[in-house]
Amino acid sequence: MHVLLVEDDHDLAARTKRGLTQAGFVVELAVDGDDGLELGMQPQIEVIILDLGLPGRPGLEVLKEWRSRGVATPVLVLTARGTWIDKVGGLNEGADDYLTKPFHMPELVARLHALKRRGWGRASNLLTHDDITINLGTGEVFVGEKALDLTSLELRMLKYFMNRPRHVISQTELVEHLYNIEDMRESNTIEVYIGRLRRKIGAEKIKTLRGMGYRFG
Ligand code: CA
Repeated sequence: MHVLLVEDDHDLAARTKRGLTQAGFVVELAVDGDDGLELGMQPQIEVIILDLGLPGRPGLEVLKEWRSRGVATPVLVLTARGTWIDKVGGLNEGADDYLTKPFHMPELVARLHALKRRGWGRASNLLTHDDITINLGTGEVFVGEKALDLTSLELRMLKYFMNRPRHVISQTELVEHLYNIEDMRESNTIEVYIGRLRRKIGAEKIKTLRGMGYRFG
């Protein structure tokens, strides 16, 4: 099993990597939040162990970013603090499990196996809703059997919607999550992109809620 370990404590990282390797895992190591963010988006990663206190970019922010980009890989959050607020924060941002430091290696190994089993549907890298399927590894999108040709912005938008079915999503929220610096930031262009996405996936799939935003599914 291919695991990403995001941990800045050198000794702990080395010990954990050694233990996991002995237990048969293939381990990628990231020692700060930015590296972790990048490595976590690699399609071969099957489970992620994420420390919360990280240099560069805090663990919770990394997790939030993965989820908003459609990375559905199971994440086990690791923290020394073990306070309920970290746990709640982690689970709110899409963590799948939680382990307090210090931990015993056999427990970590057991949790990772359980996560892999539980996350199997998602670990296949398919994000689905009704007849729409996104292969998160390849970026291919299908409606039923039909392959769609989406721009990268349309793909990001569709992933964002599919990760939040039936939620009311405002224009501001979409702008914040979808546009990079190089993109246009005017919210009225969102209408245009929504229109294009609707033409590709079916107009009925995204509802406009006057004065509130949009709802998918
Ligand atoms: Ca740390």
